[in-house]
Formats: sequence, structure tokens, C-alpha cells
Amino acid sequence: MVYGGDLCRIAMFVNTTTVSGITLEAWLPLNWHGRFLAVGNGGLSGCIYYEDIAYGASLGFATVGSNNGHNGTSGKPFYKNPEVVKDFAYRAVHTSAVIGKQITNIFYGQNYTYSYWLGCSTGGRQGLKSAQAFPDDFNGIAAGAPAIDQVALHGWSGWQGILAGFDNTTSSFITRSQWVSIQQEVLRQCDKLDGAEDGLLEDPSLCYPKISPLLCNQTSNASTCLTGEQATRVTKMFSDLYSDNDTLIYPRMQPGIEVDSFNVYRAGTKFQYLEDWFRYVVYNDPNWDLATLSLSEIQENINADLYGIASSDADLSSFQATDGKIIMFHGSSDGVISSLNSIRYYESVVANMSMSPSELDSFFRFFRISGMGHCRRGPGGPWDVANKYTGRPIDLNTPENNILLAMVKWVEDGQAPDTLTGYGYGSSNTAGKIQVARMHCKYPARNIYVGPGNNTDKAAWKCV
Ligand code: CA
Repeated sequence: MVYGGDLCRIAMFVNTTTVSGITLEAWLPLNWHGRFLAVGNGGLSGCIYYEDIAYGASLGFATVGSNNGHNGTSGKPFYKNPEVVKDFAYRAVHTSAVIGKQITNIFYGQNYTYSYWLGCSTGGRQGLKSAQAFPDDFNGIAAGAPAIDQVALHGWSGWQGILAGFDNTTSSFITRSQWVSIQQEVLRQCDKLDGAEDGLLEDPSLCYPKISPLLCNQTSNASTCLTGEQATRVTKMFSDLYSDNDTLIYPRMQPGIEVDSFNVYRAGTKFQYLEDWFRYVVYNDPNWDLATLSLSEIQENINADLYGIASSDADLSSFQATDGKIIMFHGSSDGVISSLNSIRYYESVVANMSMSPSELDSFFRFFRISGMGHCRRGPGGPWDVANKYTGRPIDLNTPENNILLAMVKWVEDGQAPDTLTGYGYGSSNTAGKIQVARMHCKYPARNIYVGPGNNTDKAAWKCV
């Protein structure tokens, strides 16, 4: 049970053009505190995140969420219908904000006080897009693991599949048990860079693992060691991806979470989001095959940036001028979207706006959340910053312990968070007994274990 309070639930279809529209839900709680919240989507969906709407409503926000312009997780609704793609790229969120605020004001008979965004993955992209293109929609934006530079991300994803190969029966295919061994070796080399051997990398950007210890020799385990050809492939997969003319397409996947990345990208299957985007948006060819993907093709499509889907405009000055605030966060154990790309975006804003990180702190802060996988959970670390409903103890719903309430405090009281405290519940990842807590640092600072005390104790860590 996510939400047990009284609320009014309104569902509607809103046309965005004659050939497109969004399904929108507004959940309006009885215990409303005056604030408006919109929540995002994931992947290529297409699905209302009821769980997130309920979570917002449970915290007293009038909360809306939409299906982002189409139903389902496939890209087929984009086929020969650019208006549906526009909804997906930006219009569904803006429409949800405009309509949702009107509904809120009418229903309660008074105007909302402040408006907020909470989303992760595609929802993170949507939040940043909103700041870039519709700076008046939200006063505070919490954007997690943003799927920005979307075509580049998809291109990187497809390239991982090509490097891994789509036939998992060949002798050169790298198996899951080999990836388990690779991840163990990465952690062996890098876990202690932050001072604590806890299976987590506080700053994966510092880790450049060497593959050579995994090469097969006379004494190694044949099912987990790597042939020379496999080691070459792994080295390529571990590298930033560049186009043929040496332009960075997308940074490497952060190290330390190789098995999750294997499951998503390297298991011999074709990554659907990339294939669907190229089939139904770029080429209008339902038979286009990901196996034919080339680096120049990726670069051409990055340059085209159809419908502004990249959502990585580094000029946030219009949003800054509204006095809006952004908290960007990204799991350091995210095996789906590399947090190194969020660093790239942050640094691009630094460069574009000619502001130092301490100056950017006035409206844009970025936190790396160790132990968080893709938007939640992960390998047992302090991932729970309450960006989603987790069933955590209710007394943790304070600005010090809850990212959304931290955002409210920043926007409304001018008190910005310097850290975000995350909690972990052990390997089951089920909210319950807290087994680890950590105060996650604001980029570019990183966490190091300094003691005294156990590394599960938040006081034993320091941002440097
Ligand atoms: Ca560590």
C-alpha cells in the first residue's frame, strides 16, 4: 500500500494536436499543503507512473503524471506520426504542467503555491528539458539519472551490443560468469580508492580498470578468464565511444556494475530502445536492423537532434532567471545510464554559463548517489534518497533525508542541501532495518571514508 489517505483522482485525455494527445492523471489529496508536483516517465514509455503519483500525493502534493503521449513501452506509436514524438520529447510534460495546475487551482479553490518536478531516467531527461525549454513550468526540479543525449545514449547502447555480439553461442562471446569475474576484478582494483572496501565506488570516474589480470593462463579458471580477443572487446566496451572523426559520442559506462550492464546491453540481445528509435522516428523503416548500425550513423543522428530529444542544452540562464532550482542526482551503481554522462552535462553547463561549481550551487546542484542502481536499489548500498516510494520509515520524511522535501526547503526557504542522505537495507533492498547510511556529496566533491567507526556509519565519511 503506497497511499492510504483520501484523495480525488481525475483521469482525462488531452489532445495536443488533431493526431496526438496525452492521458493525464491528477491525484489531489485531502491533506494538500498547497504545492503542485508532476512526475515523469521511463524508457520509451508510454506508461503512467502511478507509483510515483501516489508517492507525491502521499507527501501532500497535488500530483500529476501522464503517459507521455502514447501507451506502452515500444516506439511503434512514433511511426509516421511526428506529433507523438513531440509529445514524448517535450510537449507531454509541458501540457501536464499547464493543465495540472489549472485542475489544482480549480479543485482546491485557491492557487497552488510552488510547483515541482520529480523524475528519473527519461523522467530525469524530462526535468532538464523542462528547465531548458519551459523555464516557468517548475520552481524546483529533481532530475535523476537523466537520459539526456538520448541518441548518443542509444548509439552507445547499440554499440555495446555490437561489441558483445548477437550470437551468444560463439566461443568469443563473453558470458555472464565471465562478467561476474570482470566485476570482481574491477572492484579489486578500485573499491578501496574511496578508503572503504564496501563493494561500492564513490567516484567511479577515478577507476580505470586493467583487464590483463583476467587473461587466461595455465592456472586460471577457463570459465571465467578471458581470451586475448575477449579482453580486447572488454577494453573497447570500457572506453569512451568516439565517432570516426574523434568526436566524443558518449562516455564509458561507469565501472563497478558490469553484471547489470551485461544484463541490459551485452547479453546477445538487441537493445529495443535504440532499434525502435531508428526504426520509427529516424528512418520510418520497421525492418531496420540494429546490427547494421555504424558510428557515422550515430553521429549524423546526434547532429540532427530530431525534435530536440537530446535535452542537453547547457544554457540554463532562463531557468536561473526564474529563481528556479535543480537537484540532479545519479546512482554511482547505475548499470543502465552512465553517471559519467551526468558529469559531462554538469561540466558543459559550467563551461557554457561561465560559472564555477560554487557559483552554479546557487541554482543547480549535482549529487552522486553511491549504491543506487538505475534510479533505485542497487548492490546494497545507501541508495534510498526517497526519490521514489520505498516503504522507508516515515520519520525519515524530513528535508535532511528526503530529496523532494530538500528541494522544497531550498525553493521556499532558500536553504540549499549540501548533502543528500541515503539509506540502505542490505542485499534484499527491501526498506526495513537500516543497515547503512551515507551523506552523498555535492559534485565535484567526492566521499571518502575517514573513520572512526564502521563504513556503514554516515559520520565516518567526509566530502573532499
Ligand atoms: Ca568503496
